[in-house]
Amino acid sequence: MAGISWHYVFKFIITGDAAVGKSSLLIRLTDQRFLANPDPTLGVEFGSKLVTIPEENKVVKLQCWDTAGTESFRSITRSYYRGAAGCLLVYDVTSRKSFLNTRTWLADVRQHADPHLTCILVGNKIDLCQDEPETDQTGSAKSKRQVSVEEAELYAKEEGLLFVESSAKSGLNVERAFEQAARDILDKIHRGA
Ligand code: GDP
Repeated sequence: MAGISWHYVFKFIITGDAAVGKSSLLIRLTDQRFLANPDPTLGVEFGSKLVTIPEENKVVKLQCWDTAGTESFRSITRSYYRGAAGCLLVYDVTSRKSFLNTRTWLADVRQHADPHLTCILVGNKIDLCQDEPETDQTGSAKSKRQVSVEEAELYAKEEGLLFVESSAKSGLNVERAFEQAARDILDKIHRGA
């Protein structure tokens, strides 16, 4: 038997509209892969990953649950939220609707989950708006981006959420999103919150 390989176990839940990339973020985190056409019937529901928080010299095991197709039901069973220490509130940066809907998801989380839960707002699919011009020659917006960083940052600040933009496709900021949330949870533990 190997010795202790982690110091903490944190349960994470991943919420947000259908097709924003929740399963893809989970697959990227746990398997370093991206599937252009993930099979919805496979329903990735659970994945775990060890992350190191260097400044604390601590290894945290993240146990992540994806809503896996339950989006349409809106109300998710209490057992899904029970014991969660972290939540990824995911939207697609090219879908304003998915951003606006995070308010409903957040309300749902706040209603059912622990009030101390750490939430990180994740603007996914950032690869779709990188390297594209902000405006064309006539000055009209060409970007696929439908949610600005400023707007998302302001919303996150008002709601007490962490915030990051990510790409499950390129891998950009995926581990970082989970690590940032894990760090915040560790801080809360140290403060006795
Ligand atoms: P879920 O319903 O929220 O779990 O979304 P999925 O993970 O099933 O992803 C929905 C679609 O978006 C799939 O076709 C993915 O390949 C695609 N997708 C997910 N993440 C990204 C991303 O970061 N960039 C791009 N370009 N596509 C993505």
